[in-house]
Amino acid sequence: MSKLFRNTATLLTVVMLISSCSSQNFTIIDHDPNRIMENEQSTDDISTANDNVVIEAVKLPEATSAEAEPIPKTVSELATVIAPADPPDITANLALDANDITSNDPPLMELSVKTSKKYTYEVQSTTGALSILGPNLVYVGEKFDFDYIYPGDHEKARVRWSVTGTAGSIASDGMFTAKEKGTCTVIAADITSGVTAALRVHCIAPGDDVDFIPLVNNIPIANKSYPLPKDYEPGLDPNAQAAFAKLQADAKAAGLNIFAISTYRSYTYQKQVYAGWMKLYGNDADLVSARPGYSEHQLGLAIDVNSLEYSFANTAEGKWIAAHCSDYGFILRYPSFDAAKYTGYSYEPWHLRYVGRSVAKAVEASGKTLEECLRIDSYYR
Ligand SMILES: [Zn+2]
Repeated sequence: MSKLFRNTATLLTVVMLISSCSSQNFTIIDHDPNRIMENEQSTDDISTANDNVVIEAVKLPEATSAEAEPIPKTVSELATVIAPADPPDITANLALDANDITSNDPPLMELSVKTSKKYTYEVQSTTGALSILGPNLVYVGEKFDFDYIYPGDHEKARVRWSVTGTAGSIASDGMFTAKEKGTCTVIAADITSGVTAALRVHCIAPGDDVDFIPLVNNIPIANKSYPLPKDYEPGLDPNAQAAFAKLQADAKAAGLNIFAISTYRSYTYQKQVYAGWMKLYGNDADLVSARPGYSEHQLGLAIDVNSLEYSFANTAEGKWIAAHCSDYGFILRYPSFDAAKYTGYSYEPWHLRYVGRSVAKAVEASGKTLEECLRIDSYYR
């Protein structure tokens, strides 16, 4: 074994401590589709026909100018925006500078787990500043084009890729193929400096239960492509909670009232939430609500604020959130109707995702969705 690979056999694993994080400062009520349905039924102009439900229940914004993007009027119209006939080719239209988004910042290192089962965050190990850019989950039969970042010396790096184990293989350009169910370790080694990085990658099949937290560029991710363990019950992340408290206080000083209406949701609770939306919209519920096990709210890093109406974006509070949330480490995770083709979800001006300040600033500067920045997709297999 060469010197380059000597230190890469073991992965650094970070076992998070059990925390008794509380959510005392937050009102934890929820996306309550039943409540919204009651409202909807009391509205005269609402069709309840399944194939043509007008989604006044989640009120659509008024176009504010001639340049405003066309607003879908019905769930069916949203479906044509969101559901691609084929999986989107995420990698084809991305600028590489978005690859700078990688994180060893909070929340990852300080994520805590409040569950009977401890989960291990399998962050990548490195002998230096080299970081592998990519996910720790790839579906069997699919590929992911791994990249790397080597701050300061990126141009000089000459990275050799390799993989240990039989679950996957990797080409010299970093193109990884998941070949069979199981785990393997992807290794990037700079042959000039001897610096290495290693990342454990899980190869799974659609519908498999997972027993690890999906990470992409070391950032915890839950979307339609990246499921969470059913019994992962972290509660609201303490860093996200503290950052939100600061955001609230500063907004208050500016004369604005921002409050949480939904934060952490367990798998079991999300099951109820999703069932409620199914009752309303049938299969189109997937456009506005995550199936249990796929919700960012279960990750404990998402907070819905103030109102589940699109018009929230046009309120003073909504504008302030959009302008300032990155200062506190949050991004607007579902930033527009058009972005739904990347995120898998309709516009949600009320849904904040905590990623830490450096990542939030980078995502904001890119003008892209988190999926685009991380070169990942979001669709149910
Ligand atoms: Zn939400």
